[in-house]
Amino acid sequence: MEKYGFNPPQSPEMDLSVADQKQAMLSAIVVNSDDTIISKTLLGMITSWNPAAERMFGFSEAEVLGRHISLIIPPDRLDEETYIIGQIAQGNRVDHFETVRMARDGSFIPISLSISPIKDRKGLVIGASKIARDVSGQIAIHQENARLYEQVKTLNDKKDEFIGLASHELKTPLTSISGYLQILGNIVTDEKAKLFVDKTRQQVKKLTALVSDLLDVSKIEAGKLRLSVERFDIRQVLKDAIELLSYGNNNYDISLETDITELPLKGDPHRIEQVIVNLLTNAIRYSPGTCRIIIYLSCDGYEVKLGVRDFGVGIAPEKLKDIFSRFYRVDDANPNMSGLGIGLYLSHEIVTRHNGRIWAESEQGVGSTFWFTLPVGE
Ligand code: ADP
Repeated sequence: MEKYGFNPPQSPEMDLSVADQKQAMLSAIVVNSDDTIISKTLLGMITSWNPAAERMFGFSEAEVLGRHISLIIPPDRLDEETYIIGQIAQGNRVDHFETVRMARDGSFIPISLSISPIKDRKGLVIGASKIARDVSGQIAIHQENARLYEQVKTLNDKKDEFIGLASHELKTPLTSISGYLQILGNIVTDEKAKLFVDKTRQQVKKLTALVSDLLDVSKIEAGKLRLSVERFDIRQVLKDAIELLSYGNNNYDISLETDITELPLKGDPHRIEQVIVNLLTNAIRYSPGTCRIIIYLSCDGYEVKLGVRDFGVGIAPEKLKDIFSRFYRVDDANPNMSGLGIGLYLSHEIVTRHNGRIWAESEQGVGSTFWFTLPVGE
């Protein structure tokens, strides 16, 4: 400890002035610090070097006192010293300066430097004190995180690619099965056999819709979901969607509240129908025991607003923000209802691609209303 030019109090009887005691305390902190603490003059001559600096750089204090700080600066980073001294001479601090310094054995050490001016009694800057922390551990963690992120991203891309490929491959045999079932339906005369063919066709239709949704998801991920934009009448699209839904759910009471008679919009009518069918399907699936659905359609001259209201299980407020995410399902609320968690994700994508908005209002146990808007005149 003598190295630092002071003798810490050995016993309480020692008569040290308050200033001396303070000095001794500070010096003890410097000596015992795990951080490297170095001081130097404005010309860069090293004036102090604590044990942590010895451990970090491999030079003893005796070896470095009076030598220039460039001893530990890699040649291609000497400019940094000019910048640092410039800041210090103006009385400024330099905080968390991430850089690299060189140890005695030539190895490079990534460090974070904080440098403060040292002033004399008159306030004149006479040197600088540096605190350096080895950040190689943190850098290794960052690098590991970046590596893991890349790995997860690659796997995710592969998964998307697989979903795209698999759904594409599944579509062809499904189309053939549908075709053959239609022919079979026309051939069979036996009532029971007809019923089974019909039931099979319904299931194939469901499967086709699922595969088609999956294919759409992979198209979105690849930025390849195309819209076929044309002029269309939203009321007609709504009518088609309700009709489609009514086939399998004829005990449902779907009512429409609107004051619009005809409203031509610009967009992809098939995709908008897909959104409405999704919302209606959900309204039916997540309303066991109820059979009432209200559809609202209005226009304020700027945008069309369409709402699908059900009286079903509802959604907890904290889950509402997630329901439009890919593969998200409120599983605890409906453990027995199957689904892939992509319908609302697709609907969100389709509506936003039309420059519209989509959102939900819901109360658990009371029901939900899903709304979306589409701009008029785009
Ligand atoms: P899926 O219905 O196939 O799970 P969606 O993306 O259509 O996928 O819906 C995501 C989740 O949002 C559903 O799993 C369900 O928990 C919730 N949800 C959607 N619509 C409703 C609704 N009308 N009422 C209650 N919950 C709903």
